[in-house]
Amino acid sequence: MLSALTIAQAHDKLAGREVSSNELVRACIERIEKIDGKINAVVHRNFERALVEANKIDDDKKFDNPLTGIPYLAKDVYCEEGVPTTACSNILREKNYVPPFDSTTTKRLKTAGAISIAKTNTDEFTMGCSTESSCYGVTRNPWDTSRVAGGSSGGSAAGVCAGEGIFALGTDTGGSIRQPAGFCGIAGLRTTYGRTSRFGVMSMASSLDTIGPLCRTVEDLAIVLQAIAGKDPLDATTADMPVPDYRADLKKGMKGIKIGIPKEYLIKGMSNEVEASVKAAAEAFGKLGATLADISLPHTKYALAAYYVLCPCEVSSNMARYDGIRYGHTAGKYKNLLDYYEQVRSTGFGPEVKRRIMIGTYALSAGYYDAYYRQAQKVRTLIGGDFDKAFRSVDVILAPVSPTPAFTIGAHADDPVALYLEDIFMDGAVMAGIPALSVPCGFSGEGLPIGLQLMSARWQESTILRAAHAYEQATEWHKKLPVLN
Ligand code: GLN
Repeated sequence: MLSALTIAQAHDKLAGREVSSNELVRACIERIEKIDGKINAVVHRNFERALVEANKIDDDKKFDNPLTGIPYLAKDVYCEEGVPTTACSNILREKNYVPPFDSTTTKRLKTAGAISIAKTNTDEFTMGCSTESSCYGVTRNPWDTSRVAGGSSGGSAAGVCAGEGIFALGTDTGGSIRQPAGFCGIAGLRTTYGRTSRFGVMSMASSLDTIGPLCRTVEDLAIVLQAIAGKDPLDATTADMPVPDYRADLKKGMKGIKIGIPKEYLIKGMSNEVEASVKAAAEAFGKLGATLADISLPHTKYALAAYYVLCPCEVSSNMARYDGIRYGHTAGKYKNLLDYYEQVRSTGFGPEVKRRIMIGTYALSAGYYDAYYRQAQKVRTLIGGDFDKAFRSVDVILAPVSPTPAFTIGAHADDPVALYLEDIFMDGAVMAGIPALSVPCGFSGEGLPIGLQLMSARWQESTILRAAHAYEQATEWHKKLPVLN
């Protein structure tokens, strides 16, 4: 199946004139038309423009960049000029918000020749870990359609897993790239805070938001990162740090790499199958030449609680811009301006967004700010300190992605806190602002993928990519595909 190729494979075929970009784009379109009804990964289709771009690329016949002519999917929070972008929220869906500009990341991919073909499903404004809070309905897991695909980048993960695009873009504020990649059996990378630009990506929690790719292989993650990493004058939080040759660095192997296994990440209550797969992966790293060490990240147990204070605080501020005045959802009859705002926001936002606005506004209010927000910021510093200390003695930290494989749709419908707990292994890296990735490391007895998480010090994406690549070369997990006809 052409649409299930990796970027590296598709590029070889394009460069060798075995296949055209038009054929690749059409293969993805046909796949979406055939199977998306079963998984609901795609929310806006951009097919006509994609075919025009592909034809232009085929006419130019220049495939110098590995991304030229490659079709991809973008999460529905990446602004692209002329393409509906709604964050899967009714507040932007009503009149289909169409941005007049491109995000830096989609622009950089366009410059490299990659072709955006569709927008993917997400939890509303990326708040969630199951894509169940989308106004377009849940995305289903291609391995078992009664289960979630994870979230919030569930549409991107399911779409790549099911062969609807060669790769996808996601966002990871508190795990939204790594967790769905883990649930769908693909690779996903959260970059260092400041490594990739968020300009033109709808914000959730600005001091935590990062963006990154979801791909079939680690090599593909390196290819996409190469194109999107680096300083952006339009995003003041990006750093002017050198961008290494990520793909070349993959070949360095595991010699000399020291891997730490934090005891706080192997906890009671997690699935035995996840624990066994993660331990087996650690052994595999040992065989590949890495040194293994037990380590401790003592403040880990506070990461989730700190995240769920800081995140809603920043959400409450970022969501203030959706007032229905210049774009988006409006109200018909209203008594005055306040009444207008109330109507727009109470009918435009879904329950999870409202919950976070209320928690965040409360935690930031006078009298509570010190007790919650300031306290959570202090915890964040302590967690960052744990990681700084650990990375003085190890290069990579190995952990599970999620405590269980993909859960059943609706399993946490009445219990938002149970849903928050799904992020238990995600928030340490988030608090520390470090890069982390997810790579497949096994399957459960029920045939569901299990993900392995690797973390490294800030700016060291090369190190985790190199380790994950070595692991992927030695295992077969990433080669399995779900059956979806
Ligand atoms: N599950 C987390 C949350 O709901 C993460 C979301 C994200 O990374 N966008 O906040």
